[in-house]
Amino acid sequence: MRQIQSPKRPSSSNASVRNGAAMTLEPTEAIIEKALSGAKIFPLWLDHPDRPSPQPKLRGVIPADLAIVGGGFTGLWAAIQAKEQDPSCEIVLIEAGEIAFGASGRPGGIVSTSIMHGLKNAVRVFPDDVGELERLGQENLDGFRDTIDRYAIDADFEWNGEMTVAVNDRELPELREEFDLHRKYGHDVEWLDAEAVRRHLNCPDFVGGMWSHERSGTVHPAKLAWGLKAAAISLGVKIFEHTRMDELRPIGAGLRVRTESGEITAHRVFLATNAWGAKQKKVKRRIMAMRDHVLATEPLTDEQLARIGWTERQGIYDTRTELNYLRLTKDNRIVFGGSVGYAFGNDLEPASDEEISTYYALARDFFRKFPALTDVRISHVWGGPIDYCLRYSMYFEPLHGGRAVYVGGYTGFGVSGTRFGARIGLALLKGEKAPELELDIVRKKPAMIPPEPFRWIGARITLAVLKDVDTKGGWRLWWIRFVNFLGYPI
Ligand SMILES: Cc1cc2nc3c(=O)[nH]c(=O)nc-3n(C[C@H](O)[C@H](O)[C@H](O)COP(=O)(O)OP(=O)(O)OC[C@H]3O[C@@H](n4cnc5c(N)ncnc54)[C@H](O)[C@@H]3O)c2cc1C
Repeated sequence: MRQIQSPKRPSSSNASVRNGAAMTLEPTEAIIEKALSGAKIFPLWLDHPDRPSPQPKLRGVIPADLAIVGGGFTGLWAAIQAKEQDPSCEIVLIEAGEIAFGASGRPGGIVSTSIMHGLKNAVRVFPDDVGELERLGQENLDGFRDTIDRYAIDADFEWNGEMTVAVNDRELPELREEFDLHRKYGHDVEWLDAEAVRRHLNCPDFVGGMWSHERSGTVHPAKLAWGLKAAAISLGVKIFEHTRMDELRPIGAGLRVRTESGEITAHRVFLATNAWGAKQKKVKRRIMAMRDHVLATEPLTDEQLARIGWTERQGIYDTRTELNYLRLTKDNRIVFGGSVGYAFGNDLEPASDEEISTYYALARDFFRKFPALTDVRISHVWGGPIDYCLRYSMYFEPLHGGRAVYVGGYTGFGVSGTRFGARIGLALLKGEKAPELELDIVRKKPAMIPPEPFRWIGARITLAVLKDVDTKGGWRLWWIRFVNFLGYPI
């Protein structure tokens, strides 16, 4: 596990204000440097004494009714739901690394109702199905909570809702529209003006907000994944870790999953490989493997916490174009994320994850939001894979004539949605005829994303623009509008 020794300053000026609306103070380089010094480059969530030892590697040939590839939330939810539906079903789950070493052990851990990356996105993508998608999202979250209770999974849940905050007067009308939309679909939401929002969280950036009280909160994602793993094992699922699928081939009426030291012969295969889908022949046309980056502070003292308020402890998203998300952990650390990158060729282990400059910018954003916390140290920084697709929500790709299915595309919003994705993926594998399988979310696929090098060039320009669009505006706003016009939502 690497640590940041002496962070090298990327060149930048120490402007004193930005953001005409909020007049935020710019943190000095010395503050950022001191805070980052000694931080571990490793996910806070996985750096935990409860981390279970891995299951053995697969050796030899093993038959299965269902093989699941990928040990994140999607794969674990698929395993549990398949076993609950049919306890006699023989299920084998393989994971290339260890359980939760992908996105599931690295998120902000804000749990939401939506299976569509938010209500606004549902309206954008499937306007005719919004009511039904909302209902399914609520049903999914209720089922999610029931399962957690049934298996007594201790994952530091706090059901305190989520708050979306505007960081600029320009964004208030749009947030207000979102608020009205939430009301229209029956959400228990509260509008907060600048003063009210700052009473919740003393952050000079915030000029207004919407607090959604119900069916959302925060979780320790790795503890959730480990709890789901234990539940799956208790149901009889065979899990093999450090076992990568190298090849998937039809064999007779089923499929063969080949790994380095063994193979699974299975009737059906569920690919729960998230951003790694960008390496899969058919899926890569619609999925792009991006990275997002996160930092976690050391636990705040009561006095430090009192400086910023946050007594309701909601998960928070802001309306920056490259959004920041933030939440408190059980031991009162702040987890703060939102600095997206893309490495050529859908690289899932990019060198930039180890580069200090990646976290320097994120830390600067953190201190801009929390000028009252300049004495707080950062304990962990990390990057994680985002399975970006153009509709920002899960999609389903049947493969090998329906004997296999890939489920992914959550685009960084899948802590609870993965349960729904797993349920639908299983129904497709079984050839069920449920009404939700007729919805466009299941029947339609997201638009294609250009291949390399266009993918990389487009991402480079857009990501560079995103860094400054909210503060500098100008031609950057036009670029974002142009990219949106081309059908790439930002
Ligand atoms: C930085 C970050 C912040 C996020 N914040 C939030 C948030 O606050 N709220 C929210 O709802 N969502 C959030 N998300 C998204 C959420 O974490 C994901 O949508 C969710 O974890 C996806 O789960 P998954 O099981 O589909 O994928 P993963 O957890 O990535 O699992 C895929 C697994 O497949 C394995 N695999 C890949 N290829 C193979 C192979 N060939 N053989 C065997 N195994 C293989 C990988 O090792 C990996 O473990 C965030 C994501 C990131 C990265």
